[in-house]
Amino acid sequence: MSFAGAKLIWMNGQMVPWEKATVHVMAHALHYGSSVFEGIRGYKTPDGMKIFRLTDHMQRFMDSATIYRMPVGYERDDLIQVCKDVIVANNLMNGAYIRPIAFRGYGDPGLAPKADHPVDVAVAAWEWGAYLGAEGLEQGVDVCISSWQRVAPNTIPAMAKAGGNYLSGQLISTEAKRLGFAEGIALSTDGTISEGAGENVFVIKDGRIMTPPATSSILTGLTRDTVIKLAARMGMTVVERAIPREALYLADEIFFTGTAAEVTPVRSVDRIEIGPGHRGPVTKQLQDAFFGLFSGETEDSDGWLESVDRDTVAAASGA
Ligand code: PMP
Repeated sequence: MSFAGAKLIWMNGQMVPWEKATVHVMAHALHYGSSVFEGIRGYKTPDGMKIFRLTDHMQRFMDSATIYRMPVGYERDDLIQVCKDVIVANNLMNGAYIRPIAFRGYGDPGLAPKADHPVDVAVAAWEWGAYLGAEGLEQGVDVCISSWQRVAPNTIPAMAKAGGNYLSGQLISTEAKRLGFAEGIALSTDGTISEGAGENVFVIKDGRIMTPPATSSILTGLTRDTVIKLAARMGMTVVERAIPREALYLADEIFFTGTAAEVTPVRSVDRIEIGPGHRGPVTKQLQDAFFGLFSGETEDSDGWLESVDRDTVAAASGA
């Protein structure tokens, strides 16, 4: 079995069949969570297949590895090319989700990895539709505040996108689903809003757009950054500030941002309707600006759309 549309995975320098991209059960990462990874989307645009903010994602990948002192063994720009090659090798030119991962592999069983502990690197890609459902993008989703808090700043660094962080995410997300919600929002250890299990949160009240700052135990999302910049272009300011839980209940609009979730409206929190109980006008405006980047209606003035061009196609096919 493979994920939709996927046949080949790049692993440690080679394209290998999906079912051959395996690891030893004693791999360090499996026991201790020592992996860093990215989630990146490619979109079919009128100008061909484009990967959204690929360089920024791969910079965050390298940064996550730096935080954990993990030698990736490849340059950022080499891995950028690998992401493009994986798209071409799997013929995912109509859109894709790309998952690069680096992890401490099979070596010494001790917790503190030695300098020569092997690090494996892989890039997979497949077709992945709307993470919180296509209907959620239009109607909004129902979410709850999780009984699980986010990791405290001096425990596990939230700004690193590391495998181990997602134990927290799994608790938040599975609790929410068990209770019948699409997603859970966690509080940070000071009790203010942090983020969803795999999404950043934006809150709109009386025309003001707010989002928790990096100090609220969030992953500083690239979709979050995109929305902040798109809003500025449209003359709207996003304020990064601590947000109390009850401000969610009284908000006019709330939405999530994330590579998987894209820009998804939230229509209720803990069964309290937000505003009119469906997608609000500011959310719609920002959603249109975001998806407009891929339909060509929003100008890509920051160079966020990175081409999977003919050269890439030729190189991957050996032509
Ligand atoms: N927070 C968490 C915990 C996430 O896993 C993600 C998804 N990578 C995000 C926020 C959103 O980040 P981005 O917009 O870069 O995908």
